Amino acid sequence: MSDISIKLQQAKAAGKKIVGMYCAYGPTELVLAAGAIAFSLCSTKEDAIAEGEKTLPRNFCPMIKSSYGMAVTDKCPFFLYSDLVLGETTCDGKKKMFELMSQFKRVHVMRLPSSYQDENARQYWFDEVKKLKHILEQEFKVEITDAKLTEAIKLLNNERRLMQRLSEFMKLDPVPISGQDMLRLHWGRNFILDRTEFASQIEEMIELIQDRVDTGEAAFPKGAKRIVVTGVPTGIGADKVIQIIEECDAAVVYMESCTGMKTYVQLVDENKPPLEAIAEKYLMTPCSCMSPNPIRLERFGPIIEEYRPDGVVDIIWQGCHTYNVESRVLKDYLRDTYNIPFLRIETDYSQGDREQIRTRVQAFMEMTKE
Ligand code: SF4
Ligand code: SF4
Repeated sequence: MSDISIKLQQAKAAGKKIVGMYCAYGPTELVLAAGAIAFSLCSTKEDAIAEGEKTLPRNFCPMIKSSYGMAVTDKCPFFLYSDLVLGETTCDGKKKMFELMSQFKRVHVMRLPSSYQDENARQYWFDEVKKLKHILEQEFKVEITDAKLTEAIKLLNNERRLMQRLSEFMKLDPVPISGQDMLRLHWGRNFILDRTEFASQIEEMIELIQDRVDTGEAAFPKGAKRIVVTGVPTGIGADKVIQIIEECDAAVVYMESCTGMKTYVQLVDENKPPLEAIAEKYLMTPCSCMSPNPIRLERFGPIIEEYRPDGVVDIIWQGCHTYNVESRVLKDYLRDTYNIPFLRIETDYSQGDREQIRTRVQAFMEMTKE
């Protein structure tokens, strides 16, 4: 039995409840305020896809097929030990996956509006957040008070501030750590039993990186090409594009995705009533399932100004229609506003197209020299 399975078993034996989550729209503060542990269940494992394809269409996004494959085979201890799985009506694939999943697991799906721009949508989402609070209270037999919510907000806002500080290092030239190392740090947050311990780990990491900066150590030479990666979530195991970019001697200085900085940029407002503030923050997540999605474009202003990329690489999972269509919108926006080179890469979890992607990335790097 793996270390994590043992820890999960111990947590369960101690009476802890576990909530498995699939999306950046899941309001983690509510889960923590209910005294439960929150884990991400999004899978980046290629070998789980075949199992997912036994039920789901082959032309679905690999993240959905892999996540479903892990769930249906009970290979993922986080899924296995989850008392409740939290889903949201984001893309069509995920919505339908949750329908199937609810046949063998307790799943609650939050109904997400398709826009964050109008008052009706905000009210609708606030009601969904209230409903989730009620469900957590009922199922876990706890009361989620404003005081508990405020405590959870402070805890997670502190995490967000620390991740912002960590990201600040990537504005430097030379960059002290690689994008791949940064991704490992981001990915680690998905498997945390103790959030305070995680915050301490990030603080230690900030000190270590500061030491590297002070002693002139760097992951890439000064003047190396700087790339911002955007698009779909790309965790460890599904990070080949990030690896290839860095193998081509360019530094990935920012990841504008749900496995990167997307969820850390905006804090929960600590001056508003806690439930409203939580609902507001999560609804404003700039995912391509929102239509239109102007916040994603607007956030590129400070990214380009502060991280000074030579190019933007947009990663799209095959079968992800929303990010695929939005790629065109983003490309036009970045060209018209910043005249910045843009590369769209559509791929999956397999390794078969590695060399093809490498050739395209190399050609893109040549282009950014002009
Ligand atoms: S990209 Fe969209 S659907 Fe996927 S995890 Fe992020 S917010 Fe959720
Ligand atoms: S990458 Fe696209 S298709 Fe896949 S789960 Fe996220 S939004 Fe859905």
